[in-house]
Amino acid sequence: MRSSLDPHRNFRTDPSTKKAQDGNRIIERSSAPRNPYAHNIPVTDFLSNVSRFQIIDSTLREGEQFANAFFSTEKKIEIARALDDFGVDYIELTNPCASEQSRKDCEVIAKLGLQAKILTHIRCHMEDAKIAVDTGVDGVNVVIGASPHLREHSHGKDIAHIKETAIQVIKYIKSRGIEVRFSTEDSFRSDLVDVLSIYSAVEQIGVNRVGIADTGIVGCDIEMHLHDDSGCAIANAYCALEAGATHIDTSVLGIGERNGITPLGGFLARMTSVDAAYCKGKYKLEKLQDIEGLVSEAAGISIPFNNYITGFCAFPRQYSCKWCNQ
Ligand SMILES: [Zn+2]
Repeated sequence: MRSSLDPHRNFRTDPSTKKAQDGNRIIERSSAPRNPYAHNIPVTDFLSNVSRFQIIDSTLREGEQFANAFFSTEKKIEIARALDDFGVDYIELTNPCASEQSRKDCEVIAKLGLQAKILTHIRCHMEDAKIAVDTGVDGVNVVIGASPHLREHSHGKDIAHIKETAIQVIKYIKSRGIEVRFSTEDSFRSDLVDVLSIYSAVEQIGVNRVGIADTGIVGCDIEMHLHDDSGCAIANAYCALEAGATHIDTSVLGIGERNGITPLGGFLARMTSVDAAYCKGKYKLEKLQDIEGLVSEAAGISIPFNNYITGFCAFPRQYSCKWCNQ
C-alpha cells in the first residue's frame, strides 16, 4: 500500500493558485508532498533512503573482473587510498581465495588503517570464509546463486542446502566479530519465494545486510548490485533507494563484468541533484576527476567524451563545474 507521502501518486500543482491537487484533495503548496524528481529537493517519503545511502565501491572486486583490469598491489593501494579520501563507505576486494596474490592484497589493504570499511567477496563456502576472516577485513560479502539456472549449472544444490550452508557460513563469520552480507546471485531470475525464504532465514541469525544482485522484506539493510547491460544501472539504483535499499555497489567509471555496474560518478551526479547537502557533506566530489583518471590509466581505458560530470564535453565554457577544474 502506498504511503500518504508516496511521490508516485497523481499529484499536480497550480502555480496561479499556489495550491496543489492530490487526487481529489486540495492542499496548500507549503504542506504538499514534494516532487522527488525536481532539482535539489529532499524527498520526504519515509521508505526512501535517497538522503541516507551508503556506497560500497567495488572497483577492486567487480572492477578487477573487467576485461582490461590487471591491478598491481601498488595500484590497488593507490586506488583504495583515493577512494577512501573521496569518502566511500566501503571498499570491496576480490575473493582472497582467487589467488595467493589476492589474499596478500586483502591483508595489505586491510592493514592500511583506512576510514572506509574493507570488505571481501566470497562464495558461500566455509573454506572461503575461513581464509577471508583471517585476512583482517572488516566484513565479508557472501554470495551464492539461487536461480534455477545457476542451481543446475553452477553448484547443483537445492534451496534447503543453500539455506543450511548460508547459516553455517554466516554464523562462523559473525563469531569472528566481523560484518557479514549475504547475497543471492541472479536474484531477478530466481523464484521470489525461494529468495525471500533464504533472506528470512539469514536475517533471523543476524546477518548485517542482504544483497540483491541482478547478474542475470527484511529488517536488515539492503544492498543493490546492478549491472548496466541496458543503461539503467543509475536509474535502478535510485529507484532501489526510493524503495528502501540502503547500500549501492559502484565502481569507478562503472568498470566490471560485461557492461559494468553503477558508475560512482554518474550515481553521485544523480544523487547530488536530489540531495546536494548530503552528497557534498559526505563525499569529496571535487576528487572524482582524479580518481577516474587514476582508474582509467590503471585499466587502460579512456574516459568517454560524454562521461557524467567529468567528460570533457560535459560543461560548456559558460558554465563551471564545481566537481572538477572545468
Ligand atoms: Zn557484478
